[in-house]
Amino acid sequence: MRLIMLGAPGAGKGTQAKKVAEAYGIPHISTGDIFRANIKNGTELGKKAKSYMDAGGLVPDELVCDLVADRIAQDDCAKGFILDGFPRTIPQAEALDAAVAKLGCQVDYAVNVDVPDSVIVNRMGGRRACVGCGATYHIEFNPPKTEGICDVCGKELILRDDDKPETVQNRLRVYHEQTQPLIDFYEKKGVLMTVDGTRSMDEVFGEIKEKLGE
Ligand code: ADP
Ligand code: ADP
Ligand code: ZN
Repeated sequence: MRLIMLGAPGAGKGTQAKKVAEAYGIPHISTGDIFRANIKNGTELGKKAKSYMDAGGLVPDELVCDLVADRIAQDDCAKGFILDGFPRTIPQAEALDAAVAKLGCQVDYAVNVDVPDSVIVNRMGGRRACVGCGATYHIEFNPPKTEGICDVCGKELILRDDDKPETVQNRLRVYHEQTQPLIDFYEKKGVLMTVDGTRSMDEVFGEIKEKLGE
């Protein structure tokens, strides 16, 4: 099964993608996580991506498309994968089409986690990310057992720089301009699945599982 996640930043794509990956035994591929790991490790890619991410903009297509095409061609993706945070632009969606065609398959579902902007602001403001393993929490909706400490690895939890209010507005604007048109793109292909992302994490996952019906 080959899936992509659509939705505004903070809509809950990562949260749901992890659950789907676990339930269906397919790798979860988050381009945001890949960029953050590259920044942490001080790679050339990380250096190039950082300024765009800090400003709440998108990293240029040419830095992300080949990276994803290579990743989905790896052995662990042979039975499927779930992409989280890619594609984010029409050219990226076209590059993905070409990459899956090369592998002799197609995108089976585009899961659109639908959440209005008013809810997003609270989701991103309350998100906390682990500096060690990248696990995410929410101070209200998914708090760690000990405040400020990761349940998984014991390291510190922080508010991502790009989750600060001044950047969130820019990310939402970029989402509406560049990423939202993908909803139409996948609807036309007949693979769009929209779920109500305002419900609890378990309810959203229940709706996805029901609609996947596998
Ligand atoms: P969120 O989960 O909040 O939507 P991500 O972790 O997916 O955020 O992405 C963080 C940042 O990384 C984005 O704001 C953007 O700058 C960059 N990024 C991630 N994926 C892509 C992509 N497919 N194209 C361009 N930029 C990306
Ligand atoms: P995205 O990957 O789309 O940027 P995340 O999965 O990181 O979004 O979720 C953003 C924040 O909202 C996180 O702090 C997460 O714990 C929280 N969250 C995710 N889904 C829900 C939900 N259904 N209800 C309440 N909070 C949620
Ligand atoms: Zn951790």
